[in-house]
Amino acid sequence: MRITGRTKLAGIMGWPVAHSRSPALHNFWLDEQSLDGAYVPLPVRPEELVQALRALPVLGFRGCNLTIPHKQMALSVVDRVEPLARRIGAMNTVIVAADGSLEGRNTDVYGFRENLREGAPDWRPTRGPAIVLGAGGAARAVLAALIEMGVTELRLVNRTRGRAEQVAEELAAAHGRIAILPWEARGAALEDAGLLVNATSLGMTGEPELAIDLSRLPPTAVVADLVYVPLETALLAAARRLGNRVVDGLGMLLHQGRPGFEAWFGTPVSVTRELRAAVLSTLVAQR
Ligand code: NAP
Repeated sequence: MRITGRTKLAGIMGWPVAHSRSPALHNFWLDEQSLDGAYVPLPVRPEELVQALRALPVLGFRGCNLTIPHKQMALSVVDRVEPLARRIGAMNTVIVAADGSLEGRNTDVYGFRENLREGAPDWRPTRGPAIVLGAGGAARAVLAALIEMGVTELRLVNRTRGRAEQVAEELAAAHGRIAILPWEARGAALEDAGLLVNATSLGMTGEPELAIDLSRLPPTAVVADLVYVPLETALLAAARRLGNRVVDGLGMLLHQGRPGFEAWFGTPVSVTRELRAAVLSTLVAQR
């Protein structure tokens, strides 16, 4: 890394933020491109988010990413929010415009879409219903991506039904009906599926396993997991054994960083095998 008087700056605000893989991701790209830039972790308490965001242009930052717990609160701080982020109700990327104003975007939708395209290039939105497990921020991004890609039948399965109902209602304007199924029916929901996405935190290291009966899953269905620690979750391992194509969550993390990087540092970047290995090694080191 080179630091000069003209170094372009970006970072990630979160509380806590030390666990974030985004610095490894963006600094890999900066090194790869030999750019005069730096991407730093920015530990920002929730009560100081407004001050911190408003300081970005003052300090010469090109922008930043946002992680827990700032993704919703920032919507009311920035000057402009892209319609997609508004619809999802969360933003993860801030771009500082030339006039110092702040624009909020959500790049998780892009990340999910690109990862699915890369991991399952043969998958088509018309293959069959898409079943999404979970109704948190990640599930909202997945649903928005699937709607954008033209999936006609969506089944949303969540432990807390009320949360699923709220998500379905908020995204209904863009899609129409999203069928809600009870958590106990998650195995039955897989009948004639074209895609299954785990957007819950189940299966992540330190969390309970995702218990789901895959016996009704058609062999043509693609199975994607947003969890990327471990990289191959028990869900993906079981689906792989059945012969289904599987898509892990790491690619989503990597792809979601691209639009921000390109806006801040002015250079397009791609997700390569070397990048996956570099970020993966930081995940292994962290465990
Ligand atoms: P979140 O808002 O906290 O939502 C968590 C979801 O998991 C909720 O639907 C919750 O159900 C469900 N859940 C948690 N414990 C459960 C249990 N014991 N039984 C059944 N359901 C349970 O989290 P999030 O931000 O959406 O993130 C979800 C996961 O996606 C995390 O593992 C995160 O790391 C991952 N993620 C990955 C990427 C990527 O780039 N690959 C991006 C974003 C997120 P209730 O509504 O009933 O609580």
